[in-house]
Amino acid sequence: MDTVEELRVTEGGHIGPIDSSRIPRYAGAATFARLPRLDQVDRADIAVVGVPFDSGVSYRPGARFGGNHIREASRLLRPYNPALDVSPFERVQVADAGDMAVNPFNINEAIETVQQNALDLTGDGTRLVTLGGDHTIALPLLRAAAERAGSPVAMLHFDAHLDTWDTYFGAEYTHGTPFRRAVEEGILDTEAISHVGTRGPLYGVRDLEDDRRFGFGIVTSSDVYRQGVDEVVDKLRQRIGNRPLYVSVDIDVLDPAHAPGTGTPEAGGITSRELLEILRGLRGLNLIGADVVEVAPAYDHAELTGVAASHVAYDLVTLMADTLTPATTPKDQ
Ligand code: MN
Ligand code: MN
Repeated sequence: MDTVEELRVTEGGHIGPIDSSRIPRYAGAATFARLPRLDQVDRADIAVVGVPFDSGVSYRPGARFGGNHIREASRLLRPYNPALDVSPFERVQVADAGDMAVNPFNINEAIETVQQNALDLTGDGTRLVTLGGDHTIALPLLRAAAERAGSPVAMLHFDAHLDTWDTYFGAEYTHGTPFRRAVEEGILDTEAISHVGTRGPLYGVRDLEDDRRFGFGIVTSSDVYRQGVDEVVDKLRQRIGNRPLYVSVDIDVLDPAHAPGTGTPEAGGITSRELLEILRGLRGLNLIGADVVEVAPAYDHAELTGVAASHVAYDLVTLMADTLTPATTPKDQ
């Protein structure tokens, strides 16, 4: 019997996804894009890792199941990304690092665990694309990214919400506060941070004033519609330059029609096509880390949100792979 874990070496000399011409896509346990597990390769240039944690949510829970939902929905991803003309899994070694084991009853401990695991995984230069989990996890992921970069990092934050609120029921660490904490901790380069896709009612104008004071630029979902993707991309690129860049994607940046499976939906969002086009417009920037968070499968229908999130993660992996120099392979020698 062919095992569903049969490993396949790509043209680039890396261990690639399971061969779907031999073993059907729907067979076997899911890893992201049917890639090998991290323990099946020597090392990974890019690791996709899950953080099943949603104890920081303020409304609907369930994002703790997001990572595996995205993995299941990623079975149909194919190895060549025509939009960027890159075969990411041939170019560099990409692997699925599984899930971090995070305490669901203690948010402070959970944040410490995510930070430490992210540092452990990136020790030899591996870059992470993290599947949440709720948005609380962006704070420890940014801490690890800034430590590895050796400096505060630029950030693009795709979200319906600002996530720069101060406290909620007295709690400092929630999915609505990670970027205020990150600014306070000095791990963000405040010359180069922007929200994209923001919309929906706020508590008051003070929310926007605070956010501006922290240094954030805002591209609202209306701006994307009225100005168009190209103009938005130009503005974002000018602000980021060649700084080390972290991209955080809350899937609720998409309209609920495109991503119903999430905890705090807001009408009037961007489409999955607009999101993918903006991400592709970031090509060539120094993308050092990324996450896709807030996928809550219990509210999903027909895998809409899972499929959207898997494609977002795939394009993030492709953008990273595109900027990494392929290792010398036996084929080149
Ligand atoms: Mn949000
Ligand atoms: Mn968020």
